[in-house]
Amino acid sequence: MASEGPLLPTRPRSTSVPVRPWIALLGALILLLATAHVAGAELEPRTSPVGGGCADLRSVAGPDGDTIRCVQHGTASQVLQRATGADGSPWRRLWDGGAIATAALVEADGSPTASTAPLAGTIGGTLPHFGGTGFVIWNGGPVHRLVEAAGEQGCAARSVWVMVGGRFVGYNAGAPPFVNAHWLSQFPTDIPAQTPLLVVCSEASIAMLPDTPSVLEEVVIGHSVQGRPIEMFCVGDGSHLVLLVGGMHTGVEENTVTLARQMVVEMERGGLSIPLVVRLCAIPVLNPDGLAHDQRTNANGVDLNRNWATSDWHPEAFHPASGTVSGGTAPLSEPETRALADFVIVARPTIVVVWHSYAALVEGNDIPLAEHLGLAYAEAAALDYVEHWEAYPITGQFIDAMEAAGVAAIDVELRWSDDSDAAAQQDGVNALLTALAYEVR
Ligand SMILES: [Zn+2]
Repeated sequence: MASEGPLLPTRPRSTSVPVRPWIALLGALILLLATAHVAGAELEPRTSPVGGGCADLRSVAGPDGDTIRCVQHGTASQVLQRATGADGSPWRRLWDGGAIATAALVEADGSPTASTAPLAGTIGGTLPHFGGTGFVIWNGGPVHRLVEAAGEQGCAARSVWVMVGGRFVGYNAGAPPFVNAHWLSQFPTDIPAQTPLLVVCSEASIAMLPDTPSVLEEVVIGHSVQGRPIEMFCVGDGSHLVLLVGGMHTGVEENTVTLARQMVVEMERGGLSIPLVVRLCAIPVLNPDGLAHDQRTNANGVDLNRNWATSDWHPEAFHPASGTVSGGTAPLSEPETRALADFVIVARPTIVVVWHSYAALVEGNDIPLAEHLGLAYAEAAALDYVEHWEAYPITGQFIDAMEAAGVAAIDVELRWSDDSDAAAQQDGVNALLTALAYEVR
């Protein structure tokens, strides 16, 4: 399907591990281990492997209060978290200056009460948040739990690699079983405790543009019947274009123009959560003549949401407040619809959001991403989501034309006729943007 083009990752997933980067990585890791004790200046030099745990423990009073000494390896560790083991023994999660290990606490007399038993289902070590590779120790359990645990650290795990017999065997998160056949032959159920592994976190995770003011790019995509410019404002330079459209209908729907202009102000102010993978553009007024004359249609009297190239386009269309409305003399007969259509054909947005008022709902076309992102918007903005508009027939409408072109598009009907409901809609836009970043990572 054509719509899936922009959804593909910008780089194909690797099916094999290039050798050189891993050598460099392991070299860096060895260096990191050698210098890890510097991270905790209060701690004694450490000689145990990162996350290796302590086989023999004593509690000692350290300068920061409660610390635990790993006698065997001569490592002191700060206590981060307390818990009780399944057998009732006290447990502590320890910071050892380079990794987090879980170990049992010793009695006050210094004799160990339990041997090392890291908590299964946890990761020893820290993973990068926004892409990159982390080397960690897995404390045992199935790979789906490992992916979950990585997510709890903010790493959207894309793949996991374990050295087996001198070669890396990889697991591709989310892939069907046949893709992971090699992995499953090695680890049909659990990955054993204390397994060192490399976790590749997605590069296109949900890293955001900084919430500082941005310089907007301003483009005129066309002109109205009466020659008014149709302006578009953009921010961000990600590969996924999200297009917001206000004022397709004006007159009583003028609050959609107000809202779109408010969102442009937020784009400039840094007030939206814009993922790095996104380029966000907004056309505040598709129908500037209608805005000037306080009417729903353009200067030719054509309804700009009835003038699109769909299988049901008809010159005589319908709107309940107006009765029969003009769909134009032909699909895309109007300069406003042509301007938007030309832009969409060239720019191939990942999703288009069009604001209307007012029915307090979100309707997506049948491109799967439209439903996925439309639901995220609807939930955040506290609007209903509908798969199909049932209230009255709409011929030649925009989101249907987008569906035919393979482009996800949603209509968002505002809650009221006289208020832009900006706070809720901003929540909706932010939710859609974040959901998109997860979808395309
Ligand atoms: Zn409308």
